[in-house]
Amino acid sequence: MKYVLASGNKGKLAELKALLGPTGIEVVPQSDFDIPEAIENGDSFTANALIKARHASHLTGLPAIADDSGLEVDALGGEPGVYSARYAGSGASDQDNIDKLLRALQDVPESDRSARFHCVIALVNTADDPDPEVFHGTWEGFISIAPQGENGFGYDPVFYIPEFKSTSAQLDPQEKNLLSHRAKAMGQLKSRLL
Ligand code: IMP
Repeated sequence: MKYVLASGNKGKLAELKALLGPTGIEVVPQSDFDIPEAIENGDSFTANALIKARHASHLTGLPAIADDSGLEVDALGGEPGVYSARYAGSGASDQDNIDKLLRALQDVPESDRSARFHCVIALVNTADDPDPEVFHGTWEGFISIAPQGENGFGYDPVFYIPEFKSTSAQLDPQEKNLLSHRAKAMGQLKSRLL
């Protein structure tokens, strides 16, 4: 069985290949087909994951897997949500996004800074598959007052996990890969594909 991964991100491809290694399932990135990126204009992680999966399947004729992820902050009514990557504007750096988030939360006390990462993985057998499968992982935490830690990417330096008394950027990358929203959604996908 061969799937196209609707992402050109090398890290995501490596993670998925490692996870599916023993299954005999082959995953090829959509960048191998030289197809344009989908327009992610959905208003939920699920909608965007489905848009990307259907787009990749449409242009390759293969079954497709796509993921979409982001951060939801309760005190901000769920922001940045689907805008996580471009919260501070298109082309914003991780640091720009973190700065904007900390500014938005500057008057919010620690106890009210609850947040979670989401990762949704969509699997379609054809572009117009009427019955797509969706896997959803979440990771609960709080937004810290100041960034800490050097590992990871995105909002990791401000995503504080009380059980570990550290941000996700202070966790060992292998540890993060066992706990994260992405690990949970990938685990569900693997159970389905095995
Ligand atoms: P995408 O799923 O690659 O579009 O990622 C959306 C955005 O969500 C990223 O650019 C990050 O800002 C944020 N994000 C998703 N997962 C993580 C994570 O594990 N750590 C930190 N930020 C994340």
